[in-house]
Amino acid sequence: MAEALGTDAERGLSAAEAAARLRTHGPNRLAEAPRRPAWMRWVQQFTNPLVYVLVIAGVIIGLLGDTVDASVIAGVVLINALIGYVQEGKAEQALEAVRSLLAARALVIREGARHPIDAGELVPGDVVWIESGDKVPADVRLLRVHRLRITEAALTGESVPVDKDVAPNPTEASIGDRTAMAYTGTLVASGQALGVVVATGAHTEIGRIGALVSDVTPLATPLTRRLDGFARQITWAIVGVSGLTLAWGHWVAGLAWFDLFLAVVGLAVAAIPEGLPAVVTIVLAIGTRIMARQHAIIRRLPAVESLGSVGVICTDKTGTLTRNEMTAVRVVLPEGELRVSGSGYAPEGRFERHGTGVPPDEVPALAPLLHAAALCNDARLHAQPDGTWQMVGDPTEGALATLAHKGGWPAADLAAHWPRRDTLPFESERQFMATLHEGPQGGYVVYLKGAPEQVLARCHSVMGGAPFEAAAWLQRVQQAASAGERVLALARKTVGGSKLDAPALASDFELLGLIGIIDPPRPEAVAAVAQCQAAGIRVIMITGDHAVTAAAIGAQLGLRAERALSGRELEGWDDATLRQQVADCDVYARATPEHKLRLIAALQAQGHLVAMTGDGVNDAPALKAADIGVAMGGKGTDAAREAADVVLTDDHFATIAHAVREGRVVFDNIRKALAYMLPTNGAQAGVILLALLAGLPLPITAGQILWVNTVTAITLALALAFEPAEPGVMQRPPRPPGEALITRAMVGRILFAAGLMVAATFGVFHWELSRGSEVAVARTAAVNTLLVCEVFYLFNLRQGEHHAWRWATLAGNPVALLMVALLVGLQAVFTYVPAVQAVFQSAPLVASSWGVALGLGGVLFGVIEVEKAVWRRRQAQPS
Ligand code: ADP
Ligand code: MG
Repeated sequence: MAEALGTDAERGLSAAEAAARLRTHGPNRLAEAPRRPAWMRWVQQFTNPLVYVLVIAGVIIGLLGDTVDASVIAGVVLINALIGYVQEGKAEQALEAVRSLLAARALVIREGARHPIDAGELVPGDVVWIESGDKVPADVRLLRVHRLRITEAALTGESVPVDKDVAPNPTEASIGDRTAMAYTGTLVASGQALGVVVATGAHTEIGRIGALVSDVTPLATPLTRRLDGFARQITWAIVGVSGLTLAWGHWVAGLAWFDLFLAVVGLAVAAIPEGLPAVVTIVLAIGTRIMARQHAIIRRLPAVESLGSVGVICTDKTGTLTRNEMTAVRVVLPEGELRVSGSGYAPEGRFERHGTGVPPDEVPALAPLLHAAALCNDARLHAQPDGTWQMVGDPTEGALATLAHKGGWPAADLAAHWPRRDTLPFESERQFMATLHEGPQGGYVVYLKGAPEQVLARCHSVMGGAPFEAAAWLQRVQQAASAGERVLALARKTVGGSKLDAPALASDFELLGLIGIIDPPRPEAVAAVAQCQAAGIRVIMITGDHAVTAAAIGAQLGLRAERALSGRELEGWDDATLRQQVADCDVYARATPEHKLRLIAALQAQGHLVAMTGDGVNDAPALKAADIGVAMGGKGTDAAREAADVVLTDDHFATIAHAVREGRVVFDNIRKALAYMLPTNGAQAGVILLALLAGLPLPITAGQILWVNTVTAITLALALAFEPAEPGVMQRPPRPPGEALITRAMVGRILFAAGLMVAATFGVFHWELSRGSEVAVARTAAVNTLLVCEVFYLFNLRQGEHHAWRWATLAGNPVALLMVALLVGLQAVFTYVPAVQAVFQSAPLVASSWGVALGLGGVLFGVIEVEKAVWRRRQAQPS
């Protein structure tokens, strides 16, 4: 099979050949689903109630002969559509860029060595290695399989995993029956295999049936949908109010039809918060991009907002809280204990007894233990040209390979003499691994390594003939574990047959010894745990390790770990007991994915929003059940990644803490956008409404209000989307998951601010008239005062509930300053450019008018700050 594709099953392709084939065959990618075309995105900008209102009004006004105002309205429609179009495009791009970071990978054998590569670079003839949890990267003819089972639902719809084999299938076999093939996009449920790539990209089975990959994340989330609905409701309410105002103005106040109609249109347009959904989408997209920069890739957009209210983070230990750079430091032999020096995977270090070096060959019991460690092992060490060592494989096994190497037994040399005939790979559920080897003189030996409970239960003797005392050995395990070491026991047994069947594994092993491995906590993880706890977020550690090891590491991380609950204990409890117990234990040991599911249920029942990490094939259900599933991008399986909402590209716990922080910022900014847009829109509409109802001259004309509405939409409203974290984001408890988007306090502030702005605008208008200014001047002053107030209010909101008397209020968000500068430019044009004056009936202002506008803005700023202080004071007092 391999020959037919011009490759070598052992060595794979050469790098040069692979590169040449990549040129002829093209990258291994499926065709992409067509994007929403640009014209469609443009057309969709016109399908909202605001546009309907505007277009109808524009047509009527045009027919009535006022072409100036009709063209102002047409301009507003176009500018609005343009803003929406650009913003949506930006948001889509940002999300796509993030998704492309999640490229699939493949483990390929080229030039005799295994390399992890981007799956897109696979070519026909490549020899690939697949194992449980992988998504098959191309169509592969299997060469060697080991208990391989694949879920082919993606291709056949059949969700039960299919057993795979290497025996050829008849050519007429249907896809579902081709057991010697593994197909692109299907998931390896268990086992391992080596195969040769026969088809890539569009030539694969899934490519041929026209399946398309879609990396376009929909922009809608529950929150944006809720806001959309909210905006629509407001819109219809406003249309209703406008109708009533029209009726009132005509029949009660007796105003002229034409001016009245124009004013009501201005009122409606000013009041509709049309920019709201767009701003929220931008906030989400910006949050997603920041998270990606900090190594958290969002797969499902709603996760961005829910991250902000996470109350419990359940995290794996190994590699997430710890470095996952395992080093064997302790060897327990039947005759006594040795310590091992050195760190990392470089096989440099010595064996010591009571601090003095011991040559390995002077300890006869060491060799059999190291043989087991090296042979029952899939990790490989490679010496790099620069003198460092690279480890490929599972870190636990890497530590053992390094240990054996330190003792003079490099794995490769041993494997040549003791070829492996069968393997039972390590799986967390089983907690051990076994291999069967043929000896140089014939005969077979089984090596067993794994969690001490599992291995000791299968032993009945100890190497060297000492009696096997399980209790004494468990004591030694305990001792190593309480130092935070991960302990593995190793054993061997000679057998007759060359298959690792159940009887071969059941019992009668000879215990060789124990190995203690350290895996220190990451310093950033310790800090991140403290940060989460300060933020009212509970951190729970879940590990497959021994309870004593877990408790020791948990304590180093600052968790409540007087005691670790073990998976077995969990199983004994009903849900009610579990809920009680969960309340005060942060460390769970010897836990399996089913235990994770039960923990999630117990925590959710207490009303928490739960984030859960996972990396294995079997973690997928837990990742789905959690409110936020977090998969490891590095060591995690494809299966876990596909089930997750968030993927960490660096696998660090600290990254989750960063993402939660960013999630809080996102939510804060969405709230700020609401707290900004509602009162400013309200004030703009309020000015007109009040004038109409009170029968006063309009302080701002309809055309002018359209201008105000449009310039704020392009400038100020966007600024809050770029707002950095306010002080203390991670010092307050998580937002309750069910809390309303707009709180009671916010409603108060919104009405208060809107009222102040209306008052300032009216005040200025009448003051200008009273000092003899022209109406055009008074209106221009009113417009500018309203906008100045909006600018000051923006800075009130920037620090949230905190007082704004700090440097960050000015300097923290450069976008805000830029937008203010832009607004100043636009207002200068509005006020002083004759052509614009002609359209909007504006007039030049004198310095005193500007002074008054700025002064009123300052007063508004101060008053709102006082209101915030009062609110803070009341918050601090227990009610
Ligand atoms: P974790 O949740 O910390 O990743 P694992 O499920 O990987 O825990 O490991 C559980 C236990 O299984 C470990 O304490 C160790 O004793 C044993 N073990 C871990 N890795 C291997 C391996 N590659 N081979 C054999 N045993 C292992
Ligand atoms: Mg592990």
